[in-house]
Amino acid sequence: MLNYKGNLWVRKNYVLGNRTQYPLFLGTVAGTLLLYLYCDFVLLQKYCEIPNLSKVIVTFQILSIYSMFRVNMTEPGVQMQTISEDKYFDGKLCEKCRAIKIDRCYHCKFCDHCVNDFEAHCFLMATCIGRRNIKYLLGLVTFTGIALYLLLLILIYKLFVSDCKKELTFIILNIVSLVLTLVHLNPFIYTTWRNASQNWTKKEMNRAKFNGSPYYIYKNYKQFFTRFYDSQLYANFMQY
Ligand SMILES: [Zn+2]
Ligand SMILES: [Zn+2]
Repeated sequence: MLNYKGNLWVRKNYVLGNRTQYPLFLGTVAGTLLLYLYCDFVLLQKYCEIPNLSKVIVTFQILSIYSMFRVNMTEPGVQMQTISEDKYFDGKLCEKCRAIKIDRCYHCKFCDHCVNDFEAHCFLMATCIGRRNIKYLLGLVTFTGIALYLLLLILIYKLFVSDCKKELTFIILNIVSLVLTLVHLNPFIYTTWRNASQNWTKKEMNRAKFNGSPYYIYKNYKQFFTRFYDSQLYANFMQY
């Protein structure tokens, strides 16, 4: 709900993440945890002969779960600048929440607010993905990908080198399910890294032309990873 305060419309009881979708988020975390426990206590215990490699995989799994919480709990970049009805303003306002519309600011119908650099509303993470939490999403898909790829490599190595013929079906089944999971994950890893290198949001990525200049890519990555400290947005958020 919106609340009139001075000449500003501000959001009352703003909560991080979408409260009604929170069970979905917890379900995703629990499901991923179960998958990782299976990987660690069944697959790694059985097939990983290099103890340090298991530690590396577990580290990436922990980073992946940590990123999930960061995505959900980081304020996505909600557009807080609003204007009252009696004040003259000739810019664009959002019809639904009366936030000032700037470029790349879109209204999320599930959370009922406008978000800067809006990507999409993510149901599994129960939050909008926008300017300030997109980098944690990049971390999430990357860490999950690395943890699963390393495990896949161990299993493929076992398939071709091991002499345990009895467990062949078990290894093959696990490889197939890992490959299927990664097939779903790969497009996310690819598009998130590519969009960050070009400073595109999801809505722009089909229209814009790719610029491969290393300096341009470096500049965009630098901006992408320091966005969290965007002082104006942070000040807006802290004000309420
Ligand atoms: Zn809006
Ligand atoms: Zn949303």
